[in-house]
Amino acid sequence: MAEKQPLVQVENLSKHFIVGKSVLRAVDNVSLTICRGETLGLVGESGCGKTTFGRTLLQLYRPTSGTIIFDGKNVSGMKRRELVSFKKDAQIIFQDPYASLDPRMTIGDIVAEGLNVHFSLSGEEKRQKAAALLQKVGLGEDYISRYAHELSGGQRQRVGIARALAVEPRFIVCDEPISALDVSIQAQVINLLIQLQRDFSLTYLFISHDLSMVRYISDRIGVMYLGSLMELADNETLYSDPVHPYTQALLSAIPVADPDLGTVRQRIKLEGEIPSPINMPSGCKFHQRCRCAQEICSRELPELREVAPGHMAACHFAGELSRT
Ligand code: SF4
Repeated sequence: MAEKQPLVQVENLSKHFIVGKSVLRAVDNVSLTICRGETLGLVGESGCGKTTFGRTLLQLYRPTSGTIIFDGKNVSGMKRRELVSFKKDAQIIFQDPYASLDPRMTIGDIVAEGLNVHFSLSGEEKRQKAAALLQKVGLGEDYISRYAHELSGGQRQRVGIARALAVEPRFIVCDEPISALDVSIQAQVINLLIQLQRDFSLTYLFISHDLSMVRYISDRIGVMYLGSLMELADNETLYSDPVHPYTQALLSAIPVADPDLGTVRQRIKLEGEIPSPINMPSGCKFHQRCRCAQEICSRELPELREVAPGHMAACHFAGELSRT
């Protein structure tokens, strides 16, 4: 099988914010690669830095340090024209479909907005393109003249997806795209994203705190904690053989449909609160909550290292620890 080509390569990316006299390290030295046509899931508790990572990748935040290579080109070294082209190629679907849609604009204008920047189309051509996109995301052409407040949450998110697709991107950051939706609608939107990925050869970074949905859509999954990547593996390996104690605890909390399995599987309770990213713990960032912590853990920061082909983990004892 041909090796997959990287589309996005991130090396030692950090994004820090100044808060008063302190530094908030929202994203701290993250390195990963997203290959063409794949979906990389990014999970972690709220506040772990996954959304900031996605936005920094798209240059919605200026990185503090690190390198982002998109399709072989260093984004920070791009000239204005290249940057405009990058912003066309790399789009985002936001978490809150209502807040991200301008209530004064018609749905047709919202979907067609990006076309004004990146294409020279007549008014009628834009209208036709917006109508075709609305059809593609499961809304009829008649939605073109409606407003966001007339739509349900699921319909609004479909509009958000159509807007991202309008400029013909290659890469989309899906930033918690289903977390504001009813459970009954979530699977529909996920299936739509999967279908669109096939139809338009898209590459996704899928950010979520919902581990069951991430499993459904992702090829590989990264687990973030306090701005750092703790584990990265292909979908099957991560769920069947997680080696980082944080991943093990997160997975143990997923409800199991089978009542027999539910009683067999032991839940690993995470003690304490996530430390503040303004006041990072020394050594392993997870050591204050880790049931496996040993003396070295509070002193030395574990490197993200390969514990098996394609399986990375940042733990001094990765692969040596039991899951129970
Ligand atoms: Fe736990 Fe230590 Fe591994 Fe960190 S390095 S996850 S504290 S065992």
